[in-house]
Amino acid sequence: MRILVTGGAGFIGSHYVRTMLGGGYPGYEDAEVTVVDKLTYAGNTENLPMGHPRLTFVRGDVCDQELLRRVLPGHDAVVHFAAESHVDRSVDGGVAFVHSNVLGTQSVLDACLHTGVPTVVHVSTDEVYGSIETGSWTEEDPLLPNSPYSASKAGSDLLARAYHRTHGLDVRITRCPNNYGTHQHVEKLVPLFVTNLLRGLPVPLYGDGNNVREWLHVDDHCRAIQLVLTGGRSGETYNIGGATSLTNRQMTQRLLDLCGADWSMVRFVEDRKGHDYRYSVDDSKIRAELGYAPRWTLDEGLKRVVDWYRDNPGWWKPLLDG
Ligand code: NAD
Repeated sequence: MRILVTGGAGFIGSHYVRTMLGGGYPGYEDAEVTVVDKLTYAGNTENLPMGHPRLTFVRGDVCDQELLRRVLPGHDAVVHFAAESHVDRSVDGGVAFVHSNVLGTQSVLDACLHTGVPTVVHVSTDEVYGSIETGSWTEEDPLLPNSPYSASKAGSDLLARAYHRTHGLDVRITRCPNNYGTHQHVEKLVPLFVTNLLRGLPVPLYGDGNNVREWLHVDDHCRAIQLVLTGGRSGETYNIGGATSLTNRQMTQRLLDLCGADWSMVRFVEDRKGHDYRYSVDDSKIRAELGYAPRWTLDEGLKRVVDWYRDNPGWWKPLLDG
């Protein structure tokens, strides 16, 4: 089995690669993994076991069609994580998001088509559905993205669907809420708050802090992706849920508790432009079809993550200078 992972040096992609090479996915214990990653500010080869005999690392942009057509032949599947992923950066400027997320996905799909790679799992986000006051989005609901990030991801989802409909390419789409875990860049909420608190610095909380997010451990997300790769149906979309729903205030409280700090360390800052109030996905399809269920509780998962950042300043401190 040969799997090509785009964006495999980032937060979620590297967790997927480490787990696969560590024998964590049944039937894939001997899989060979090729990572294609541009190594943007978010990519880090320290996230990968670089000398592993079954890992090949290729530095490159997924928009580079020539490179993809050279590297892809012989692979059984692509798991496509590569993307610009930070909403705040997309509010500052959307060009990189359209480049990597829209053009990049089109390039991956085209290259798979031309090199005969049979299956693509396209990793997307719950943010493509937009904000929902109550209830949860199903896979049949319309895409109503509100940020340049989520709009670029929605564009990539539609391209994935179109390559299936037009060309018959076996593409499967996954949509997942906020992930937390180790090796996440310090710009994202959980690591930002944790690394600030560990350094005795205040943390910035957007608006009134009442926006609601679902939080899923990266390991549960990656296991769900693997279930979709091994058992999902061609052309289908799978919401991945089972996450814990919290207001940003509630998440802040948990992180303050875990870091031994209090609300004197919180600064309320001007809200993000177009800040979605709430996301929520209905994941009954993946549970019924593929037997998905998350394993991590937020209490245990978050504690382990805070411990990891506490124990690994050598991983995150260099990112602060960048
Ligand atoms: P990340 O920013 O940590 O990592 C992205 C990786 O992609 C980096 O290694 C980067 O170098 C690489 N990359 C970016 N542009 C590239 C390009 N043009 N060519 C090749 N490589 C490129 O992101 P993440 O949090 O690991 O997210 C991975 C995927 O999961 C993304 O598609 C994201 O939209 C999706 N997702 C993330 C979350 C979350 O909470 N982080 C939730 C749902 C879905």
